[in-house]
Amino acid sequence: MSQFWSPAVQALTPYVPGEQPAERVIKLNTNENPYPPAPGVGKVLREFATDHLRLYPDPTSQALRAALAESFGVETQQVFAGNGSDEVLAFAFQAFFCHGAPLDVPTITYSFYPVYAKLYGVELRQHPLNEQWEVDLDALAEASSRSGVIFANPNAPTGHAHSLATLEALLERVTDRVVLIDEAYVDFGAESAVALTQRYPNLLVTGTFSKSRSLAGIRLGYAVGSRELIEGLERVKDSFNSYPVDSLANCVGIAALEDPAHFEACRERVITSRERTRSRLETLGFDVLPSKANFVLAQHPAFDGAQLFAGLRERGILVRHFNKAGLENFLRITIGTDDEMDSLIEALETLIR
Ligand SMILES: *Cc1c(COP(=O)(O)O)cnc(C)c1O
Repeated sequence: MSQFWSPAVQALTPYVPGEQPAERVIKLNTNENPYPPAPGVGKVLREFATDHLRLYPDPTSQALRAALAESFGVETQQVFAGNGSDEVLAFAFQAFFCHGAPLDVPTITYSFYPVYAKLYGVELRQHPLNEQWEVDLDALAEASSRSGVIFANPNAPTGHAHSLATLEALLERVTDRVVLIDEAYVDFGAESAVALTQRYPNLLVTGTFSKSRSLAGIRLGYAVGSRELIEGLERVKDSFNSYPVDSLANCVGIAALEDPAHFEACRERVITSRERTRSRLETLGFDVLPSKANFVLAQHPAFDGAQLFAGLRERGILVRHFNKAGLENFLRITIGTDDEMDSLIEALETLIR
């Protein structure tokens, strides 16, 4: 604490990301992709220093947004690009959720939402997951507030995804406030709600290049929605930093979108490894929640989650453990390469014996 901090800054509880270790470990703690990005990305990097570095970036990320729009079958004006989807989410909180009314959110979901709520002074109305560890869309829809609804689909850190039909049923009910669906993990087997943005002007879908496109280091995220919602985000962005997405990120993002074959191959590998990991964890006696993401959430009925976490860490394997009610006994394990997952299973076998 410092006397120089404003009361609002003193009251903040910042988000704590999974650690990025300096030494080489098997890193299964922050849902990164184990495979390299599309080969075209390397070519862009080599040309970049000579052609682009001395100039300011395009403040509107026109070319990247056009490429995203084409891949989603929407207009360029329905796409917003930002410095990682975390930044897009921050803009969305400012643009749509600061109404002086509570925001409806699940109790267990991406832990950055409560951080932004505090930063922007947004009160949360938290709704528990149902008995199957699913986001309770009925509860989110029933609550009446003027602020909005936010959740991740697939949800984090559970991995459960609602079907498109279920999401549409929510949108039929909630028409008077923004519904933000965070699709950070949608490419690992869930159905995207992007097509619904054409029919529901209050739906904003966010996504990221960090997970399924192996570009966590470049900080690139986006939102798709009606023109009025995208304009709301642009108003916030242009009042904060007119150049959030740098030229390198713009070029690299386009290069990644231009290689759908690499994208498909990569996500299929991750999905196959996830199912293999799931069945091997089950063989060891773990309960594993069904996941449509690039991680699984698992607990062992006979072993303490924090102890397993510490034991893996000693063996050079990082996974994620959350000190949060209901999650204390779980480990969230990112899906790495098959070799990495073999090492994880071997280490868990030793810890359990
Ligand atoms: C990883 C993650 C993000 C953030 O993605 P960035 O684009 O890297 O900022 C957003 N939402 C959820 C649910 C995530 O897991």
